[in-house]
Amino acid sequence: MTLARTVIENCAVATVDEHDTEHERGHLVIAGNRIESVGPGPAPAGLAGVTRVIDATGHLATPGLVNTHHHFYQWLTRGLAQDANLFDWLVALYPVWARIDEEMVRAAARASLAMMVRGGVTTAMDHHYVFPEGAGDLLGAEIGAARELGVRFTAARGSMDRGASDGGLPPDFAVETIEDALRATEAAVAEHHDPAEDAMLRIVVAPCSPFSVSTELMRESAALARRLGVRLHTHGSETVEEERFCHELFGMGPTEYFESTGWLGPDVWMAHCVHMTDADIAAFARTGTGVAHCPSSNARLAAGIARVPDLLAAGVPVGLGVDGTASNESGELHTELRNALLVSRLGPHRERALTARRALRLGTYGGAQVLGRAGELGALTPGRLADVVLWRLDGLGHSTIADPVAALVLGPPAPVTLALVNGVPVVEDGRLLTADEQTIAREAATQARRLAGIVADA
Ligand SMILES: [Zn+2]
Repeated sequence: MTLARTVIENCAVATVDEHDTEHERGHLVIAGNRIESVGPGPAPAGLAGVTRVIDATGHLATPGLVNTHHHFYQWLTRGLAQDANLFDWLVALYPVWARIDEEMVRAAARASLAMMVRGGVTTAMDHHYVFPEGAGDLLGAEIGAARELGVRFTAARGSMDRGASDGGLPPDFAVETIEDALRATEAAVAEHHDPAEDAMLRIVVAPCSPFSVSTELMRESAALARRLGVRLHTHGSETVEEERFCHELFGMGPTEYFESTGWLGPDVWMAHCVHMTDADIAAFARTGTGVAHCPSSNARLAAGIARVPDLLAAGVPVGLGVDGTASNESGELHTELRNALLVSRLGPHRERALTARRALRLGTYGGAQVLGRAGELGALTPGRLADVVLWRLDGLGHSTIADPVAALVLGPPAPVTLALVNGVPVVEDGRLLTADEQTIAREAATQARRLAGIVADA
């Protein structure tokens, strides 16, 4: 049987392959769910089974963006605690988040995913760790939303067991017991995780953070993930307050604490990693531990500037993360490409800290690396999965920037003319094909009001 082929021609191509190969005017051939060929000039003549030919003049083709850290439910609590640092922000918001239910999470997940997908994200990730008793199937709600929108998805089943009465930040009624958290996580892997190379859905074990999770749950989570053969994710070294907390409680810094609980390794990636010593960076490099860099969220919560140039120089895998939209209201990943570059130049490395091409690499291949999918995603090379975005660069926002990669990274968010996930179109001419954006916006607003009402009545 001949696979259906889509031919894309006449566009600039940034492959983000190992040599950063680019074509000023090139082509892509997609066969089924994989990239068949990429190169300069027009596609080879005489291909069989061509069902669609796209003249992509004025566009840049890149790998689809890969998001490596998010909290979908926060879509319902954007714009709150606007001037707080991380700990004060958490203390203000945990009592609100503790009231979420399945209906709210579904609406928030649909909105979060829609925002990212229409902005060129083809692999989404969510770290969900708030599971109030009786709230329904929260993980199932977001998995359903990702399936419906047609986006590749990594669902990180989080957990918290250190409530306020144990010196943690979340209220007691928003945390689980160790046994419940581990049992539910194992069940989620059994029900949903697809280990296949072209999987649309993967599950990850993801206790929330050292200050909301007991040492026992951290240790047991690492053991569980390794027994099941899935990856591990958590928040790490985000703020100076967290560093202080670790020293006071454990007598060591966050990275030493992670190492002591089995949490460094090539199957682990952590969000933020802002406050890292040279020794911490060396430990991440030695163990292959990855980082989800979230520059907008770090700025919004006054957390600091992650040492991304040093992490990269040491060989640490680094991807980009939107983070939850209560700490990054933009909710789309282009902002992170741009801010990763800009913020890195405010740090000690100055002028050449990150280039536009390095920023694009973090948002694509780097993301695939930290999700453990570098062989399948994150670059436009023959044999990889067909997660491809065509960015329109001949309009008002970009037409005078001759370098297409600079136009994409430094310019305003570029319109997405086409986004393919697994070879299937999910966005065309800036519009979601899989759901109605206005309906999603309305439903999310309804659920945000419902949550605010429940909190006000509590
Ligand atoms: Zn986060």
